[in-house]
Amino acid sequence: MHRSIHVIIGAISGLFFASKLYLVPLCLIMGSIGGYIPDFDLRFGHRKSLHNLFSVLVGTISLYLLLNLFPCNLLHDNIWSLTLSFTTGWLLHIFCDSLTKRGAFIFWPFSNRAYGLRIFRSNSLASTATGFIIAFILLLAWLIYSGGLELLIKYL
Ligand SMILES: [Zn+2]
Repeated sequence: MHRSIHVIIGAISGLFFASKLYLVPLCLIMGSIGGYIPDFDLRFGHRKSLHNLFSVLVGTISLYLLLNLFPCNLLHDNIWSLTLSFTTGWLLHIFCDSLTKRGAFIFWPFSNRAYGLRIFRSNSLASTATGFIIAFILLLAWLIYSGGLELLIKYL
């Protein structure tokens, strides 16, 4: 699946944690970063070290501690919204990659087995289409969850 689709899916997933309007851009950014980060391990010729639950846990704890270091009330007051946006973006990236033929090494480094539905090749049209469908479903779910869809229908 193309990295930009992972970023879009991560950004949309971040919206679910934006409990206040001013958090929308911050959660979009944190979700995008979470969706972007895992493919950095492709530079090392594999899709293991950042495509597993252990790395998500380490990344989540690291981000939480990093946000705590900044002397900024905006970050401290919304630390869980920002951290969970990031984590969800990362988890959805792994889930989407698990749909590809290579699967995802979700229990690496404890297991070297790839898991997933393994439906299509990573760079195929089916992969891209599925990514956009997932993004659309997430956006629709967020619109329903946030009450935005009701407002949209009301003004149409
Ligand atoms: Zn990936």
